[in-house]
Amino acid sequence: MATGNRYLGLIDKFRAVLPVSDSTRLISIGEGNTPLIKLENIPALTGKNVDIYVKYEGLNPTGSFKDRGMTMAVTKAVEEGSKAIICASTGNTSASAAAYAARAGIKAFVLIPEGKIALGKLAQAMMHGAEIIQIKGNFDHGMQLVKDVAEHAPVTIVNSINPYRIQGQKTAAYEIVEALGKVPDYHCLPVGNAGNITAHWLGYTEMGKISGDHPIMVGYQAAGAAPFLKGEMIDDPETVATAIRIGRPQSWDQAWAAQKESGGWFDLLSDEEILAAQKLLSEKEGIFCEPASAASVGGVLRDIKNGKIPEGSTIVCTLTGHGLKDPDTAISQCAVNPQAIDASLDAVKAAILDKL
Ligand SMILES: *Cc1c(COP(=O)(O)O)cnc(C)c1O
Repeated sequence: MATGNRYLGLIDKFRAVLPVSDSTRLISIGEGNTPLIKLENIPALTGKNVDIYVKYEGLNPTGSFKDRGMTMAVTKAVEEGSKAIICASTGNTSASAAAYAARAGIKAFVLIPEGKIALGKLAQAMMHGAEIIQIKGNFDHGMQLVKDVAEHAPVTIVNSINPYRIQGQKTAAYEIVEALGKVPDYHCLPVGNAGNITAHWLGYTEMGKISGDHPIMVGYQAAGAAPFLKGEMIDDPETVATAIRIGRPQSWDQAWAAQKESGGWFDLLSDEEILAAQKLLSEKEGIFCEPASAASVGGVLRDIKNGKIPEGSTIVCTLTGHGLKDPDTAISQCAVNPQAIDASLDAVKAAILDKL
């Protein structure tokens, strides 16, 4: 029960629409309640009159939206007596599972693709004490192995095929409508396994049961990992945006339903376009997200310019994870000062005047 004004996490706040009871022990680290930030400088670059908001999910406790689903999945796993959870992950799910398992006092097993996980995410899973199993394969191989092993061992799967993950993640849609005071015209997000677009659509349709109001849902994929554009699963997904390096989306049918029912679409971006959008958000708005997250903004800017998204629209983009998750990719895009200068006033003054 809420005491005073203290925020006790999203299950506590949204318990009326979540599958918990008054006696459920909530496994929470204060997730959710992330800011909806209006972009001030980027929209003008399109030459069109639009309002773009970003839901900065990188400000969740472990730095991604996965915490919304994980608080629910781990809360229910503990309630059902589970002593261990397991997931396959491109990184953020493992970081989140590891943290919530630590909080709950249970064990987390995480399967990650060897060498293809961003440094920050690996650091998190390690620090939180997860059992990390690197596999010589990609996320899709890991996911199949997790499903198979869960039939033979007493472990609860906390990937987004766990329905409680979707329940927790739908709360982002509730927060957006509360913050905006209305339903946005468009909601755009990067798509990997497609659990998040499914969860948002669930939240919006629950809220719109009476009014019928809902946004148009738009999903953006990386060109090298775009099964929704191909119309079928793919075997060798490849992209710099490792969080969406997925060829066999687990929420395939649900995501198609969200697209069709909302009147939305899927599209793809090259790695170059994704990185350019990440840099643009950092440089023009002071918002640092990871590459996968920037696919939403990169895609939206293109669809505003080409008129697919009309003037006057209110658009929300989900920034799924924090930029600090993947320092290597960030640094590799930036020109670092080539050489050190003398530690003297003259040298530093000259360096500054040179840039003004
Ligand atoms: C998990 C993740 C995604 C993809 O979400 P899905 O639910 O798998 O579609 C996108 N961006 C980031 C940063 C993620 O961690």
